[in-house]
Amino acid sequence: MSHDPNCIFCKIAEGKIPSKKVYEDEEILAFHDIHPWAPVHFLLIPKEHVTSMAHVEDKHAAMLGRLMSLVPKLAKQEGCRPYPEGGFRLVCNTGDDGGQEVPHLHFHVIGGPRPWLKG
Ligand code: ADP
Repeated sequence: MSHDPNCIFCKIAEGKIPSKKVYEDEEILAFHDIHPWAPVHFLLIPKEHVTSMAHVEDKHAAMLGRLMSLVPKLAKQEGCRPYPEGGFRLVCNTGDDGGQEVPHLHFHVIGGPRPWLKG
């Protein structure tokens, strides 16, 4: 599995930087965002260094399918209320135009009661 030694999320995936883990398996890690925007805010990442959604290739399809199927389970586990009153946002910022700050593919899951949601 390829890691980038300068990538903060690779370091988190390798356990070199601590994180508050939500879920982990051999390919995927989910952990709490360090600056939450909402009562529920965690990130899902592939452990392999994939720079962004723009770098996804066919070989990532199975892992990303599994990652997506984890989203509703982990959202429920972390306290998102049931659909349709509850729910969550699933966000994947990509590149500078997409507002991506950390160049390692990640999906934000953001939820909880709505007072936080402004515009
Ligand atoms: P943005 O900062 O605009 O949301 P990204 O989509 O690249 O851009 O999101 C990076 C996210 O990673 C941010 O929400 C940030 O709070 C989070 N983050 C950065 N460093 C850490 C860390 N060490 N542990 C947990 N979350 C982190």
